[in-house]
Amino acid sequence: MSAVDELYQEIILDHYRAPRNKGACPDCGRTAHHSNPLCGDEIDVHVLLTGDRIDKVRFDGHGCSISQASASMMAERAEGTSVAEALALGQAVREMMHGDGHADDELERRLGDLASLAGVARFPVRVKCALLPWAALGDCLADAGGSP
Ligand code: ZN
Repeated sequence: MSAVDELYQEIILDHYRAPRNKGACPDCGRTAHHSNPLCGDEIDVHVLLTGDRIDKVRFDGHGCSISQASASMMAERAEGTSVAEALALGQAVREMMHGDGHADDELERRLGDLASLAGVARFPVRVKCALLPWAALGDCLADAGGSP
């Protein structure tokens, strides 16, 4: 494993062990559930939207380290953004999942911790794990306007 892969592994495990923004959100008006039966991943995403602003993102669920770490990173990054920004971020993650398994400098700057998921692209069966929380976030924002 290269030094970069080890660093990425550490970031993923850190989010998995100490997930950010995990928990219920009674005041969140938007909720979506997605599952990945192939792997056994379950994700609920809750979003509190005020106008075009994502004030709060919480997630709940269980499953493999990739799905849960991706949910933690998604919730951390999407909170406080606009709908358009969150959708663009999701699009960038999706594009990364179809990449060559490496995040270049530009992608790292843009995605922060999320760039650690770049290596998942090398394991097609895990790509759905990584994208699960983004699919749920997309559902939460489906009719919220703002194009990526
Ligand atoms: Zn999984």
